[in-house]
Amino acid sequence: MNLNAQVPGGPLEQKWDKHRFDLKLVNPANKRKFEIIVVGTGLAGASAAASLAELGYQVKCFCFQDSPRRAHSIAAQGGINAAKNYQNDGDSVYRLFYDTIKGGDFRAREANVYRLAQLSVNIIDQCVAQGVPFAREYGGLLANRSFGGTQVSRTFYARGQTGQQLLLGAYQALCRQISLGGVRMFPRTEMLDVVVIDGHAKGIVVRDLITGKVSSHAADAVVLATGGYINVFYLSTNAKGCNVTATWRAYKKGAFFANPCYTQIHPTCIPVSGEHQSKLTLMSESLRNDGRVWVPRRKEDCGKPAAAIPELERDYYLERKYPSYGNLAPRDISSRAAKEACDEGRGVGPGGLGVYLDFADSIKRLGENVIRERYGNLFDMYERITGENAYQVPMRIYPAAHYAMGGTWVDYNLMSTLPGLFVLGEANFADHGANRLGASALMQGLGDGYFVVPYTIGHYLVTCNQPKPPASHAEFRRVESDVKAFTDRLLSIKGKRTPTSLHRELGKLLWEKCGMARNEAGLKLALQRIPELREEFWKNVNVTGEGTELNQSLEYAGRVADFIEFAELLCLDALHRRESCGGHFREEFQTPDGEAQRDDQNFAYAAAWEYQGPDKAPALHKEPLVYEAVHLSTRSYK
Ligand SMILES: Cc1cc2nc3c(=O)[nH]c(=O)nc-3n(C[C@H](O)[C@H](O)[C@H](O)COP(=O)(O)OP(=O)(O)OC[C@H]3O[C@@H](n4cnc5c(N)ncnc54)[C@H](O)[C@@H]3O)c2cc1C
Repeated sequence: MNLNAQVPGGPLEQKWDKHRFDLKLVNPANKRKFEIIVVGTGLAGASAAASLAELGYQVKCFCFQDSPRRAHSIAAQGGINAAKNYQNDGDSVYRLFYDTIKGGDFRAREANVYRLAQLSVNIIDQCVAQGVPFAREYGGLLANRSFGGTQVSRTFYARGQTGQQLLLGAYQALCRQISLGGVRMFPRTEMLDVVVIDGHAKGIVVRDLITGKVSSHAADAVVLATGGYINVFYLSTNAKGCNVTATWRAYKKGAFFANPCYTQIHPTCIPVSGEHQSKLTLMSESLRNDGRVWVPRRKEDCGKPAAAIPELERDYYLERKYPSYGNLAPRDISSRAAKEACDEGRGVGPGGLGVYLDFADSIKRLGENVIRERYGNLFDMYERITGENAYQVPMRIYPAAHYAMGGTWVDYNLMSTLPGLFVLGEANFADHGANRLGASALMQGLGDGYFVVPYTIGHYLVTCNQPKPPASHAEFRRVESDVKAFTDRLLSIKGKRTPTSLHRELGKLLWEKCGMARNEAGLKLALQRIPELREEFWKNVNVTGEGTELNQSLEYAGRVADFIEFAELLCLDALHRRESCGGHFREEFQTPDGEAQRDDQNFAYAAAWEYQGPDKAPALHKEPLVYEAVHLSTRSYK
């Protein structure tokens, strides 16, 4: 299959405008004849559902939480980027574009990233108009701070609750449409399969999580905005419910999965404290605006209290290694540097798996009140979890699994290889290459939902010649019976292991063999072990309760089954990519000073995997990454 990314011709800056003109429009009176399914109510899904309904389409929107506003996006802390250049510090659309391409280690599609940078300015206007309470300067203008991998301040924020405030804005727009009848909302409903009719995605099969009822919904097009898969690692900063099920099941129906090995390990998380934990807590990257990262110079000092280690005996390793970016070096680089320091035996805290994030200098310079105003809720959260007051002693942080750059392969229109299936937000692979810069996920989710899919989906609807099938179509009944058989099978095993214990084992394996660093031997070992774990799951999982009631053990078991299958693809992708780039660090491919060594000659492509059937190896398709505007260069933050 020839992967056609549908990137428009012409100069980079004009591609999106030209494309929007070339796309066919749907007559306003005809829009209400089309029905669109949106799965997901995070920033990507809520913004898409609200915008599509506002245009006049009939929208059905689904989420598994009890309310759309409980989507994982609510957890985002630090901010959202936009090239407004309010600071007059040298920012521009081109600089945001370039920083993002470079931050992603030159493994993203140029045209998508440029469009994202262009749209960033509209997103802020849209959100301000909705009343999102962004932080403001004394004079009333919106305030900015910096995030990793940039030298300008372009991150808009609402304290440490940016995701919550943005989601309330999108949710408000969604509610307006629910009350007007433009959107029918289905909370507590899990999509368990895509229905494909004559090669096009024309509906979904869902399970009502309260009653267990399995039913179908037909539509003219389906939008997935179902978030990322990083919980495959079991321990992560994501909400416990985040999972890969929707995109994985779409993959099995023909939507290629791209770059699954591009996973982001975030450098500033509260360290793991023991086996009992079910999730990890992020300390926003924004803290690195004012916090300095260090470890003791000498191993022998690691057991001493931080205050007992004099200035000269401290190693501010990010400032030392990356003087231009210092504590704001990008995430992949900062995470590896923390791992390196701990591997050398210079880590602090229990097990030596921690580094300091120290605010003493900033508090001395700015006063505790300023720091409290900027990050108060994060300091409170840290104290509640660790019992330590970070105004008085440095925070202890360690990297943790955080974000998925890989996802469903989509073209410039955000349509997958399954016609009629659009994928937005963290669920797609599109814009961040091998490493995402901080504060760019919210930008992408809202850009996709408010400004891209409302244009591109119309073109599909008027050109596809595939009307919505009747709900009586036999394919819906067939997929429903597959879904029922899957849940019945889970309930019938009655084995000895909980879904949690199998998930935890999978996560540990992945963290060790395919986490911050990977190598051929480790990946091969993981690829041997994962099928065994899959077998163990299907023989020995114990799902309690029934299928006709609220049964969270059943929901979770289905998600774990998908994670186990998906983990194999993740490791296969990591094994085949014999280079290091961004979050994918293959130990065999590094420069003499330990930096990632790309191989542009052989790997400057997006890897899109096609499902070939159970127990068959997936087929690899390559989308070459052609750079017209930027030159591929060695990424340096020194
Ligand atoms: C702690 C934390 C802090 C972060 N801070 C920032 C930040 O400051 N800036 C930034 O840019 N990014 C940040 N991120 C990343 C960002 O929050 C996410 O990438 C983004 O919110 C994802 O949005 P989304 O709409 O794609 O998916 P989500 O918000 O994950 O929403 C997914 C939706 O899909 C639904 N869903 C999923 N599967 C199914 C199914 N099978 N059936 C029905 N519904 C389904 C869910 O119910 C949910 O409504 C942070 C991430 C974390 C973990």
